[in-house]
Amino acid sequence: MIVNLKDKILYPWGHDRRFNAYSNYLRNIYGARIQKVSIDAGFTCPNRDGTKGTGGCTYCNNVAFNPSYCTPEKSIKEQIEEGISFHKWRYRKAVSYLAYFQAYSNTYATLAKLRELYQEALSYPGVVGLIIGTRPDCIDKEKLDFLKEISEKYYLVVEYGIESCYNKTLKRINRGHTFEAAVNAVKATATLGINTGAHFIFGLPGETTEEMLSEAEIISLLPLKTVKFHQLQIIKGTSIEEEFRKNPKDFHLFSWDEYLEFFIKFLERLNPAFIVERFTGEAPPDFLSEIVWGRKRTDQIVNLIEKRLEELDTWQGRFYSLNVLKNVL
Ligand code: SF4
Repeated sequence: MIVNLKDKILYPWGHDRRFNAYSNYLRNIYGARIQKVSIDAGFTCPNRDGTKGTGGCTYCNNVAFNPSYCTPEKSIKEQIEEGISFHKWRYRKAVSYLAYFQAYSNTYATLAKLRELYQEALSYPGVVGLIIGTRPDCIDKEKLDFLKEISEKYYLVVEYGIESCYNKTLKRINRGHTFEAAVNAVKATATLGINTGAHFIFGLPGETTEEMLSEAEIISLLPLKTVKFHQLQIIKGTSIEEEFRKNPKDFHLFSWDEYLEFFIKFLERLNPAFIVERFTGEAPPDFLSEIVWGRKRTDQIVNLIEKRLEELDTWQGRFYSLNVLKNVL
């Protein structure tokens, strides 16, 4: 419901921004700015070590998305320390931190190992919680029970790479799991009361714009708390780069203007209860094989999206409707 308080409109998420913004959500919980600090704890991934596959997802190059202070040669404590000083100039007001286990599949180890690594992060002064990025097939009942214990004491998000709702795409990008496996993992996690996040990529080969837009309706039915979206970026040295060179017509690399219009339509269909953490991804230009957008900082992107929402007088979930949704899955 949208409430008009004098001159101020409050959207269903309780503030006047036109989307359910992650920064506002965290500020509401902690009353202050919270900074995320990335960690590479030296995990690998079953889609790389031979358990599921060896080549990995066709677009994957974790180095391109890892901040420079993040390397597994450093202890978790050192990475948090360096991460805090790396962000200090920009986020001077942050006094609390979330340790983000970002690189590869961060539940892909024994329970004893996970306990040791997560505990090291949680014992760092000012760290109030964890964000754990992983794959839907790297979780089981034992690990979920352990994560539930953590979530009862600390802020916790288990964030799954889902990437696409279409099995034809997941197969083509060599994800090594189906959409149904992702749905099961999300439901099993959320049922335990653990904040559950998901990550999606727009522009994967073979998908039409209509199919991508329909994903808003499909994922809106999942018990997700946070969502992140990226446009496909062709990273040098990946197998998707080769595929792109061979079949460029199979790809839709959005220009910025196109992406902006697409993303607004997507947001309008998206469940308003989902907290939106990212709209885009920005790998450093040196890693990019195709530079489609000029360099844009995250804060500029957020401003441009909010400006466009305002111009169109629209908002997240404007066309969200349970009546439509119940026919989708
Ligand atoms: S699951 Fe993640 S880490 Fe593993 S290959 Fe795919 S993108 Fe890379």
